[in-house]
Amino acid sequence: MHDVIVVGGGGAALAAAIEARERGARVLLLEKNDRLGGSTAWSIGSVTSTGTPHQRRRGIADNTTDHWVDMPGFAGDLDARDNAGLRRVLCDHIPDTFQWLLDSGVRFMGPMPEPPHRQPRMHNVLPNSRSFIYHLERRARRAGVDIRTGACVTSLWRDGERVAGVEAQVNGASVRFQARGGVVLAAGDFTNSPELKRRFMGEQESKVEGVNPTATGDGQRMAEALGARIVNGDLALGPEVRFIAPATENIVRRLPPWRWLAMLMQWSMDHVPGWLLRPVMMKFLTTALAPSPALFEAGAALVNRRGERFGDECDRPAWRLPDQPDKVGYILLDRALAQRFSAWPNFISTAPGIAYAYVDDYRRNRRDVCTQAPTLDTLAASLGMDPSALRASAQARGLGAGPYLALGPVRSVFVHSEGGLLVDAHHRVIGDGEAPIPGLYAAGSTGQGGLLLKGHGHHLAWAFVSGRRAGAEAAAAADAAASAISH
Ligand SMILES: Cc1cc2nc3c(=O)[nH]c(=O)nc-3n(C[C@H](O)[C@H](O)[C@H](O)COP(=O)(O)OP(=O)(O)OC[C@H]3O[C@@H](n4cnc5c(N)ncnc54)[C@H](O)[C@@H]3O)c2cc1C
Repeated sequence: MHDVIVVGGGGAALAAAIEARERGARVLLLEKNDRLGGSTAWSIGSVTSTGTPHQRRRGIADNTTDHWVDMPGFAGDLDARDNAGLRRVLCDHIPDTFQWLLDSGVRFMGPMPEPPHRQPRMHNVLPNSRSFIYHLERRARRAGVDIRTGACVTSLWRDGERVAGVEAQVNGASVRFQARGGVVLAAGDFTNSPELKRRFMGEQESKVEGVNPTATGDGQRMAEALGARIVNGDLALGPEVRFIAPATENIVRRLPPWRWLAMLMQWSMDHVPGWLLRPVMMKFLTTALAPSPALFEAGAALVNRRGERFGDECDRPAWRLPDQPDKVGYILLDRALAQRFSAWPNFISTAPGIAYAYVDDYRRNRRDVCTQAPTLDTLAASLGMDPSALRASAQARGLGAGPYLALGPVRSVFVHSEGGLLVDAHHRVIGDGEAPIPGLYAAGSTGQGGLLLKGHGHHLAWAFVSGRRAGAEAAAAADAAASAISH
């Protein structure tokens, strides 16, 4: 028997497990994949916070209320659908949680400006987002969290009204685990659940894959079975056109998450000239980011594997890509466009606040997505396209003289989806009749509760803040259950 069961092994789950364990609860963490990570390990790794040592070192005076006031500036027309109470929770608690990440060994560079934030608040993890998992897993194991991977939770079970444990598939067998205090669902989002995307977004969206293939909304579905509901299920980052990932991971992704290395990198960001750092940044920037829509506005053609255009490039091309052969496309540039996207302000991709990547950066770092040829016919031959179709596509877009450059394959993806369970300010999942379901908590994307997290670095901030708080609540419930038994 455990006190708290945490479902998932990403940022929110690890934060919940550590917090509950450090408050004395016996904690079991169940992760369905062979290793911990989730979308947290796929992420770029920006965390937005006020009150950080990084801000203080630069003399930036900032506060949680200003953060709370600035966030709706990112939401725009959607602001009325935000959960202002949970936004308050996020802004009030991220400074402490940022320090908790530092205390756990995670290191950041920054802060970088990102208007409409009135102050620079975006911090980026070093050397990469696996660092979150590496340091938090270590802290969790040291504290004594019972971590099991390859354990896919399939349902919640109840004792009367109270959620008292979970059912999981472990090594092909169904196993039941019991929790005295409660279950924290931290199983991520549903970017890769065709069924949930069809229900909340539409048929076309259901065909678009998520960047993280195992983000299948298991937590949302298990809680729905008990009367919980999903809020803002129609909102997501995507579908958007992105370059396919490189066959082998680049050097930045492969860097080990050692603290001394992160500190050396942090020092370098402040002291090494930009031109020396740029080649390293480019490895990262050209990995699997979105090509700028400005390419299409400037006249680039988007063609499929056959060389055919499949609609207006400036009108939501990501929605039509999944209907093309192998669901991929290529961005076609003539010489003039390739020259134009070789210097500021015309970039191919960017991680805002970090750097910009141009045509030559792609040629150097991503030869697998750059095909150049002197004529359209030779380009078509290199890519196995129909030359007459490619010629027709170039003509329709008014492309001029070669050499021609095809950037791709590109595909359509969802980066993250916003549909989380409705929760209260204590991260208790709300069920039928607007009452919390006893014993059930949700954190991170699973427990997003209608909170709008636009702008960079708010999703991870929510994962860590809500995870820690949900873990603390579940541990307190376990304490209360234990003292009720002893009296
Ligand atoms: C490419 C990319 C870049 C991003 N960059 C940023 C960024 O820079 N800044 C930012 O703030 N946000 C970013 N995000 C979003 C952010 O990564 C996520 O919102 C955040 O990591 C969610 O954390 P989580 O713990 O809720 O979910 P996850 O990290 O996805 O963890 C959920 C875990 O639960 C496990 N799980 C699922 N179902 C089950 C089950 N049935 N049983 C057991 N385990 C289960 C999963 O395998 C997974 O390990 C990015 C996302 C992507 C994909």
